[in-house]
Amino acid sequence: PTAYRNKQVAVVGLARSGLVAAEALMRAGALVSAWDDNSPARDAAQAAGIPLVPVVAMPWAELSALILSPGIPHSYPKPHPAADLARGAGVPILVDVDLLLSTQTAAPMIAVTGTNGKSTTTALIEHILTETGHTASMGGNIGVPALTLPAYGPEGTYVLELSSYQLERVPSLTARTTILLNITADHLDRHGGMDGYIQAKSLIFQHQGENDWAIIGMDDAPSRSLADKVRRTERAPRVVPISVLAPVPGGVYALDGHLIDDLDGAAVEVLVLDRAARLPGRHNAQNICAAYAAARHAGLTAAEICDAITRFPGLAHRQELVATVRGTAYINDSKATNADAAERALVCYPAIHWILGGVAKSGGIDSLVAHFPRLRGAYLIGEASDSFAETLSHGGVTPLFCGTLDVALHRAMAAAKPGEVVLLSPACASFDQYKSFEHRGDHFRDLVRTLSQGEDAQ
Ligand code: ADP
Repeated sequence: PTAYRNKQVAVVGLARSGLVAAEALMRAGALVSAWDDNSPARDAAQAAGIPLVPVVAMPWAELSALILSPGIPHSYPKPHPAADLARGAGVPILVDVDLLLSTQTAAPMIAVTGTNGKSTTTALIEHILTETGHTASMGGNIGVPALTLPAYGPEGTYVLELSSYQLERVPSLTARTTILLNITADHLDRHGGMDGYIQAKSLIFQHQGENDWAIIGMDDAPSRSLADKVRRTERAPRVVPISVLAPVPGGVYALDGHLIDDLDGAAVEVLVLDRAARLPGRHNAQNICAAYAAARHAGLTAAEICDAITRFPGLAHRQELVATVRGTAYINDSKATNADAAERALVCYPAIHWILGGVAKSGGIDSLVAHFPRLRGAYLIGEASDSFAETLSHGGVTPLFCGTLDVALHRAMAAAKPGEVVLLSPACASFDQYKSFEHRGDHFRDLVRTLSQGEDAQ
């Protein structure tokens, strides 16, 4: 933010990262005008001494930048007025991450994007680096505001999770290592369709050069075609392919339960994937391949990396093992806010008491019918109950209407037998009953812990 000393900067969207950005800019001597459409956020900003100015009254002709919260659309489906005003006045639209990138230019950056697996991969890389004695911090979309990260010279690495919305607003991004995990249909409304979404993802490779690595998942067609496009650019970075479906020459892949390192063309088996206990399933194998390759580019050895991977503690709300009570595992997968993500959890367990529901995405759980034979019970909560009940019944499962998580968990706990799992993987957003997926998952964890007290919980 030091680049903005004595310059006028607007900050619109004052949830946590916006608030932190406004404060950092003010400390750096910038002249800040800030706004949020919600009054509680404005009150918090006012209490922190941040000058509030309604968007229409901001000094658009004098602004050097608009820091627009990643949650606020700048184009699709409908631009926020601040974005229109910025474009009209030729003011660049940025996110907070760009302020970090434009000042911390000496530190190596590892940037992670993709439709699914971003947070897991980001956290895994940070874990590998810090476990092996390196200095590293993660931030961005993972929920850590970029401007709370420590200042680093060349010795410290930033691991940044970037959503496609953020990628459209980080012109300063030059990452030594980039990762594009996968591209599947999601959030298309925000990018005006699949082409816009792919275009946004491709921005992660901007400004990369010959010594840089672009680690790209080869298991979907849009990512494969982006890999080809990157290879064809001038001063192209090295494209490092990763796959969990087939061997990829010169890359890293998972085959028959093994992680294979072919970065030097030797196809060495470096890890038995079962040893990464907190990273189950094929989707996590993709995250492991990506994190492994990024750590190799950072100069770590195969042995160091694999040792750290086996000690990864896992991430909250993503197939998080909360407790094992009388032989039943309780798993918090609250982050699974759509059917696709819930599927990743359903495939991992043979006998499931499934707690699901909330605010459904279009298509509901229609795509999950093939997994219904694994269900030992289906416990519905929230708004989606009626429509999900219909799908479940058609698929031969008798749904139980529970209303709340509390009731659902009680009933699942009473029914579950040793060896079965109780899985919260809602396939829905949480907003009908909770503030966020984190709030929902925390509630689940608390309930499990309370209900299991006095039992032989491990
Ligand atoms: P993101 O940060 O991209 O949303 P997370 O790592 O938080 O991704 O995982 C979100 C959900 O997506 C998890 O519930 C998990 O089941 C699923 N998932 C994780 N990694 C992958 C992957 N590589 N491919 C597909 N699905 C994944």
